[in-house]
Amino acid sequence: MDHNKLAEMLFPDIKETPQYYEEKFPPRSLPQDAKVTRLGPSPTGFIHLGNLFGAFADERLAHQSGGIFYLRIEDTDDKRYVEGAVDIILNSLRFFSINFDEGATSDGETGAYGSYTQSKRGPIYRCFAKKLVAEGKAYPCFLTEEEISDIRKRQEAAKENPGIYGKWALCRDLTLQEIEEKLKANLPYVIRLRSDGDMTLPEDQIKRFTVIDAIRGELSMPVNDQDTVLLKANGIPTYHFAHVIDDHLMRTTHVVRGAEWLPSLPIHVELFEKLGFDIPVYCHTAQLMKLDEDGNKRKLSKRKDPELSLDFYRNLGYHPAAVREYLLTILNSNFEEWRIANPASDIDEFKFTTEKMSNSGALFDLNKLNDVSKDVLLRISASDLFSFLKDWSCEFRPDLEYIFKDRDYLEKILDIGRNEAKPRKDHIYAQQIIQNISYFFDDMFKIEDSFPKEAESDVKEIISGYLSSYDHNDDQEIWFSKIRELAVSLGYAAKPKDFKKHPEEYKGHVGHVSTVIRIALMGRSQSPDIWEIQQILGEARTRDRLEKFL
Ligand code: GLU
Repeated sequence: MDHNKLAEMLFPDIKETPQYYEEKFPPRSLPQDAKVTRLGPSPTGFIHLGNLFGAFADERLAHQSGGIFYLRIEDTDDKRYVEGAVDIILNSLRFFSINFDEGATSDGETGAYGSYTQSKRGPIYRCFAKKLVAEGKAYPCFLTEEEISDIRKRQEAAKENPGIYGKWALCRDLTLQEIEEKLKANLPYVIRLRSDGDMTLPEDQIKRFTVIDAIRGELSMPVNDQDTVLLKANGIPTYHFAHVIDDHLMRTTHVVRGAEWLPSLPIHVELFEKLGFDIPVYCHTAQLMKLDEDGNKRKLSKRKDPELSLDFYRNLGYHPAAVREYLLTILNSNFEEWRIANPASDIDEFKFTTEKMSNSGALFDLNKLNDVSKDVLLRISASDLFSFLKDWSCEFRPDLEYIFKDRDYLEKILDIGRNEAKPRKDHIYAQQIIQNISYFFDDMFKIEDSFPKEAESDVKEIISGYLSSYDHNDDQEIWFSKIRELAVSLGYAAKPKDFKKHPEEYKGHVGHVSTVIRIALMGRSQSPDIWEIQQILGEARTRDRLEKFL
């Protein structure tokens, strides 16, 4: 068979040589050990936590080493293209401080290794497919869907592995003349790899290959034996072929991708070898898992788990720094230890490594995220928190515009208890913060809790007594001694322990009385210190609430 002739017959339009592209996209001149990584989302307009998880690893590996992180749009499956998807991807990631150095942007592309959109790279894929055909390493396959399903049935009946390989690859050995006739008859065809692997050999003779995965260590697998499709009948490449060509020509050094690609690794390794390309460092990340209601580990699912969608975090108003910090705790097992030793350091000072990534399933836990968020928000100044809340509310709660009118007031509220030796950790995410502090604003204030039963019948007396002796200038000590006096005068114990000892002598104790005041002022039985809150509310608002209550 004259393979060169076949290649010309199949790809008469392709004039460029592989050499041309090798020179057009030369190895990058970057510092030694600089890593080149990429994110290759398909433009479905849905970008999820798993993407963010991977993107974060990509971003860290590249930017920590003075390398390049680029965005490639993998749109070979054109059914899934959603208008505006690139913007959605860029904006979603930018929100979490993940920025690209090159690749697709909202208006065109930047960088010298493009196009970064697979659907625009047709001639490149065809050029390398032509090379493989010319070398006898790939061939046109005219099998129809019916023929393939028939093969499958026969394989099932014979208990043989499914797929097009070895004796089942019926177009492998067509003659040039046969191919020419089929082309003349306009029969549709795909281009298939001619695989060297043979899995029908006895177990101990099946060839294996090894690669060092940066996360998983040495991987040893049987070589590929499938005549995998490289170009589909419409000329569009499969993921396998596009991955190998693109990551080679874009000079990717580290391929960070989900573990779901591990089973295809033999195909990719065979392709890299057949094309004479160096194999990049693979980093197969663990799947994101969660514990379900029964305590079993399972994959996060788009259908069942709203937390898989990045919108979930934006809608609730998680601070991006909190999500970043949390992702690092599940990405690198030594991160938490580092954070304890470096509580005030910028997160980017942490040295992220693939070796510390889990390979068995990264456990995602919203409660843990909330804990991390409390710590992260504690490190953010009231002024920055104010701006963050304001931006969030602009997008998700425009009705709350009025709470941002008095900056000083809101900042004081946000700072309550945060500057103590053992600071309060009240804040988790915007929606929860707003709910938490709502009582500071008359429009949102409402009585939410019920009065303690010990003081239920004295509510009016307590509040009117409290109001009549109220002096906004009292310090905390005087203020509390007045509450104690009021309690005693109404028949309550001055100290909880007195009440506990002789419950028959009192209606209740001072705590019940102050809870009544707390509920009248804050609407809740739990809140930070009443005196401190009154100082922030101001005299007028405090008196007004008490009066309205009566
Ligand atoms: N487009 C592929 C996906 O959506 C990218 C996988 C890769 O990073 O190689 O999963």
